[in-house]
Amino acid sequence: MQYPEPISKLMDSYMKLPGIGAKTAARLAFFTIDMDEEDVTDFAKSLISAKRDLHYCSICGNITESDPCDICRDKDRDRSTILVVEDVKDVMALERVREYHGLYHVLHGILSPIEGTGPEDINIPSLLKRLQSEEVQEVILATNASAEGEATATYLSRLIRPAGIKVTRLAHGLSVGSDIEYADEITLLKAVEGRREI
Ligand SMILES: [Zn+2]
Repeated sequence: MQYPEPISKLMDSYMKLPGIGAKTAARLAFFTIDMDEEDVTDFAKSLISAKRDLHYCSICGNITESDPCDICRDKDRDRSTILVVEDVKDVMALERVREYHGLYHVLHGILSPIEGTGPEDINIPSLLKRLQSEEVQEVILATNASAEGEATATYLSRLIRPAGIKVTRLAHGLSVGSDIEYADEITLLKAVEGRREI
């Protein structure tokens, strides 16, 4: 049986989301049809607004409504420290801890020879540029504790250390392969406090 076109179109949209197959998409589509019109309108508006009103900060790569982002513009933040993460969600996880007061740099990915991701494909050139122009004394490498995360940290450390900048790595109380995004706040706090020089 063919679904009516509005439903199949809605299913196609849901299936573009990660981890959603045809069955779940059908369930979500039919659920949406049963929702209040007001809720559906709000949902559609949030989708459009999230896409239209959010951008990546031209300095640090964080997600923001205004460029530069609030963190880069905040005069109370410690400008001598930059914490490097893979993903915007990692910034949010670390900000929830409220113990880190420096700046961030979001790589938007990780070096991966297997997937053909090189330094130019992620936000590494912009990080190196920042290090030349800003008063940075320490770079904290907070890529995840995966093989690629470690390799990316080692690569960055070799590039940055010769400039006389202290390079540290988060003390991963986090187990190997675990993501910063999912770590609890105490683990993250300890990881930042116990960072070691590499
Ligand atoms: Zn920023």
